[in-house]
Amino acid sequence: MKPVNNDRVLVVLSGGQDSGTCLFWAKEHFKEVWALTFAYGQKHVLETELAQRLAEKAGAHWEMMSIPFIAQLSSNSLTDDSIPMDEDKPADGPPNTFVPGRNLFFLSIAAVYAREHGISHIVTGVSQTDYSGYPDCRDAFIKSLNVALNIGIDEQFIIHTPLMWIDKAQTWEMADRLGVLDIIRHETLTCYNGIPGDGCGQCPACKLRRAGLEEYLKLSKK
Ligand code: ZN
Repeated sequence: MKPVNNDRVLVVLSGGQDSGTCLFWAKEHFKEVWALTFAYGQKHVLETELAQRLAEKAGAHWEMMSIPFIAQLSSNSLTDDSIPMDEDKPADGPPNTFVPGRNLFFLSIAAVYAREHGISHIVTGVSQTDYSGYPDCRDAFIKSLNVALNIGIDEQFIIHTPLMWIDKAQTWEMADRLGVLDIIRHETLTCYNGIPGDGCGQCPACKLRRAGLEEYLKLSKK
């Protein structure tokens, strides 16, 4: 464990649009960016390769951590090929793309990792604005987990959520303002079918991403 260095930040980086944008947000706000990517049994391993490339572009110190138990714990369509993916959010709960506990584990592991490296600032790309029905993307969850981690680890972590209250169009606007619109557009993977950049165009993640991009490009007249 190292003494806390407030110039240092840790980004939980998946390789998607949201965490990718947060990586460059972190670069703007902190001198030294670290990024942690989790291999949790997701079907699309390309995601983690893209995360590594993004980290290189941002000049971040990157590390990948393997936590395969996430896929063993529960069945969901992001880690299990035999489960067809929900196209829409069911009326009675989150879609089956929800990986229960994912952000709980990610952020808890990130906090322990951060403490080890003298980092108290942690960034996650969760947002409750374009709410997909994932309960662990909500602000109340992140804030209460932040409190729990601070008590349980006896540290003063600050979990930053730059995207919490902005929608997808505003997330594109942020990427543009940070000078990385093209990088985020072409070198991230959000698509549930594993196609990088603009993706398959059909899955719920692609639809949300594309609608936001179109709205932003229209507004900014690009
Ligand atoms: Zn897609």
